[in-house]
Amino acid sequence: MANESKLINIYRRATRQLETTVRRADPRKPIILIRKVIMGDINKIAADLERETKNWLVVEIPQEYKKGSQQAVDDAGKLGLTFDKTGFGQVHKEAIQALTEDAYLDFASGIEGVRRAGRGFVSDIVKKKINERIVSGQLEGKALDNVKREVKQLVEDTGFTALVDRGGKHWAIDSYAEMLVRTHVIKANGEGTRNRLLSNRVDLVEISTHATACPICQPYEGRVYSLTGKSEGYDKAPELPIHPNCRHSYMPYIED
Ligand SMILES: [Zn+2]
Repeated sequence: MANESKLINIYRRATRQLETTVRRADPRKPIILIRKVIMGDINKIAADLERETKNWLVVEIPQEYKKGSQQAVDDAGKLGLTFDKTGFGQVHKEAIQALTEDAYLDFASGIEGVRRAGRGFVSDIVKKKINERIVSGQLEGKALDNVKREVKQLVEDTGFTALVDRGGKHWAIDSYAEMLVRTHVIKANGEGTRNRLLSNRVDLVEISTHATACPICQPYEGRVYSLTGKSEGYDKAPELPIHPNCRHSYMPYIED
């Protein structure tokens, strides 16, 4: 397990900061100033997230890949196989780099979603401000309280959406980051195993079996697959993770 909670906590803290930024907006200020203050704060939080995410990924993704690779060597040893290729040559370095960059792009699009959500909040605040002024004539006392209460409610209801997925689900930035970190850690681990096996000419793998099998993975458990899809009589192995939080892995398999 990589140090996942560290990155997840960074996103949780950022979520609270983002919400506070919007709630604290002063609707009495000129529109241009509201936008400047909110977007300034949000851009700073987003830039921090980008930097901290990158710092985390460049350490943890290579480590996880190496763990997966070592697991392949260990599992092969148990089957009586000795791998001659166990180093981290150029091809592994490139694989690690690609995994790290792919992971970063996923996080970056989530962070871009945060900036977009921030712009959405600004325009909502401005609309509410204008509405209240049209109705009440001025923005003080009860009218001001109304706007502030509505903004607070808006933050609670909507939150900072990182992305809307194909099923229409709105992912809050912190739960989105949590899903991403888990997915990319498992993916890096699985790729480490996969590439290590393939570089030692092992194409057949068994999908690990766990006591707590989820319904999605049950059909795969304990079954043998071909990593490349080129071994006759075997289906192509599923990509790991099979679903977010999936703990299934590839184990080398030798035919009798
Ligand atoms: Zn699973």
